Amino acid sequence: MNIESIIKEREAWLGWKNIAPIREALERLPEVGEVEVSLGDCVRLRSDAIAPETIEKIESVARKMMPWRKGPFDLFGIFIDSEWRSDRKFNLLKPYLDLEGKRVADVGCNNGYYMFRMLELRPAGILGVDPSPLFRSQFDLINRYVESDRLRYEMLGIEHMRGFADIFDTVFCLGVLYHRSDPVVALKSLKQSLKRGGELYLDTFMIEGEEPVCLVPESTYSKISNVHFVPTIPALENWCKKAGFERFEVLEIVKTDPEEQRRTDWSRGESLEDFLHPEDPESTVEGYPAPRRVYIKTYRK
Ligand code: SAH
Repeated sequence: MNIESIIKEREAWLGWKNIAPIREALERLPEVGEVEVSLGDCVRLRSDAIAPETIEKIESVARKMMPWRKGPFDLFGIFIDSEWRSDRKFNLLKPYLDLEGKRVADVGCNNGYYMFRMLELRPAGILGVDPSPLFRSQFDLINRYVESDRLRYEMLGIEHMRGFADIFDTVFCLGVLYHRSDPVVALKSLKQSLKRGGELYLDTFMIEGEEPVCLVPESTYSKISNVHFVPTIPALENWCKKAGFERFEVLEIVKTDPEEQRRTDWSRGESLEDFLHPEDPESTVEGYPAPRRVYIKTYRK
């Protein structure tokens, strides 16, 4: 099936019974007039003319869209304190980025927090893909006011990127690879979406070690059920080579701390401190090494 028919078919996901009421509420939101957008660590929207009842309505729609995992956002004074301080990840990558005039894809973009942040780097356009109708709806709420014509969001997955053959200058794949049971196939799909010489920025959980080996969690890793492989850096490099990438650069290695990932009023489920071992913060509850991420950049051959 071609990409356009998959996109069309998936539009029906917005009619799921947990999503349809959110979409209806979103469509009923009143206009707010001129909006001032500031793209700092917190993506902030302001409007002089907005009525207090309208702000209440926006808050009630945003609440229906919980949990908010990525952010923060400030919508006309409503502070959406997401589970993740995603500004940390973006600010870590920012010094390495040159997106001016580029065609960019963010694969596993969640609610598009990084897409909004990337706008200040003046790319030609950004395609975000994520197969979640809830996160797509969060994106639609924000972009209703940002109104950027350089952003496009499709409910697709990493497996569909091969369908955008040779299109992108820069692809981001952040926090997705360990969810794939076949990481080399996933990386090949990303490669096919890139132009020759195009760049991939990726982060994944990692384990320490010089050997090209992986941790294979028995069931959960850090209470996350669908983590298939946690590689050493040499194992990750070998996956990238097998998939057709060259020049493998390690940008940063970061241990997740409870300031970056925590339970908030906008994401009320368990968070990092519930995932770490109560007596040993260097281990997960399962006894595996605590989450550590490696950020890399590599290029399509
Ligand atoms: N990139 C963001 C979000 C990572 S969370 C960040 O680094 O902060 C993982 C995201 O992958 C979720 O938003 C989830 O909905 C999305 N996802 C799930 N299945 C996917 C698939 N097949 N392809 C791409 N993304 C997927």
